[in-house]
Amino acid sequence: MRRVLIVFVFGLLLSAYPLVAFAQTDDTPVEPVDSEPVEFVPRYHTVAEGESLYFIATFYGVTQEAMEIANNIIDPTLLFVGQQLLIPAADGEIVPANYAPRFGENLDIIAEGFGATPTEIIRENYLLSPDSVIGGQPLRVFSRTGSSTPGEAPGLGHIVRPGETLATVSAKYGLTQAAIMQANSLTDDLRVHVGQRLRIPTGSETNYTAIPGLWQELSFSNFPIRQGDTVAVYVEYLEPGTPFGRITSPAGELIPIRFLPQDEGFTALIGFDAFSEPGNWKLIIGGEGDARPWDTFETDFVVGSAGFGTQYIPIDDDQQLRNTENTFLNAIFIDSNPEPLWTDVFRIPITGTVSAGYGDARSYNNGPIYAFHSGIDFRGNIGTPIFSPAEGVVVFADELGLRGNALIVDHGMGVMTGYYHLNSFNVAVGDTVEPLQQIATGGDTGLSTGPHLHWDLRIWGKAVHPTRWLERLFP
Ligand SMILES: [Zn+2]
Repeated sequence: MRRVLIVFVFGLLLSAYPLVAFAQTDDTPVEPVDSEPVEFVPRYHTVAEGESLYFIATFYGVTQEAMEIANNIIDPTLLFVGQQLLIPAADGEIVPANYAPRFGENLDIIAEGFGATPTEIIRENYLLSPDSVIGGQPLRVFSRTGSSTPGEAPGLGHIVRPGETLATVSAKYGLTQAAIMQANSLTDDLRVHVGQRLRIPTGSETNYTAIPGLWQELSFSNFPIRQGDTVAVYVEYLEPGTPFGRITSPAGELIPIRFLPQDEGFTALIGFDAFSEPGNWKLIIGGEGDARPWDTFETDFVVGSAGFGTQYIPIDDDQQLRNTENTFLNAIFIDSNPEPLWTDVFRIPITGTVSAGYGDARSYNNGPIYAFHSGIDFRGNIGTPIFSPAEGVVVFADELGLRGNALIVDHGMGVMTGYYHLNSFNVAVGDTVEPLQQIATGGDTGLSTGPHLHWDLRIWGKAVHPTRWLERLFP
């Protein structure tokens, strides 16, 4: 079995869980260690002309043997200029880490990134088997690299096609054979076979991910996932065809994933609303190939609670009217233009302070909770101008019982924004709108306790945290 030294930097993935002290005694309470992730110290060395492994090891105050183990070096005389070496921590120094695995990462990969062994991780986390690693669910790891985050391994994946050799692959990417051999811990150039996945250590923006089968790329935009998040999924497959997939909630709700061509592959947006059940979800992605079906990729992942609160609204709600209105609007929300129309980060649609945030559960007149606040409320006077956050097409502009004067803009790819309790409309159904174009004025129509704008953002009907869209460009 091929040994691959793959290390990743996923500082963002570090869970914020407090690290638990590892040495426990019977009666003293366990002192929680600082919950801040330990700052990443790059512990890599690029081999320069004339350097030996002994010289480098001495320079960093570690043993040559530790360097050999950390880098899977079989013959220490075979270093080459430009080779990247992982510097292990000095003897005995072990840094505890909490690490949330990405999709496709298995215990071998995670262990190598930390200079740990799969057995240690299994033991520390009481895992039932090496297959019980769940994307996004933090694992406790004893790191021997001197850092609580795994190192960086930039590069692309390349799957060896019939007729290709190490020589042709390295020529294709303008690299030496030695560089590819080192990146993949290959001991001789005959160890390359058709269907093998190689890490090409090229100046790629992205980190290399090991995934099974003929998948070239399979990535989620953010981890860990929490209630209210928008997640972008990107996939690339070696053979032509069209991907499809779905996610399944812990309670068994099935949500289809709708892919669109993007770059060399396909991309999809998934919305997790505030009532998304925290726990283990399942993801399955396959594809209809031109010649044969694509390999199926299946994994579990965690959706975490966002800790939303409860808002008590001192007015009566009409639950039946709410249900009728939601059903009516949902038919509109899922009828989106497949192509994305927006080109930039969304702009805030109104200047005004926030009076109620997204996601809190709602109790009307102290009644039972059956709804969450699907968007953000902004204070405003009657007549306050309201702007489109991005390019789109107006798909609804009419009066509704609860939402009052309501406007909905379709931004494509399942993304729609809604504007409620309006005073007047500046656009009509079918109009295309530009970023910051005035589309309406604020008001106090429908079920409302005063002049305000309710703004929400839907992904194929799921109401997500709109603020995320003001912070970054999706997908
Ligand atoms: Zn609202």
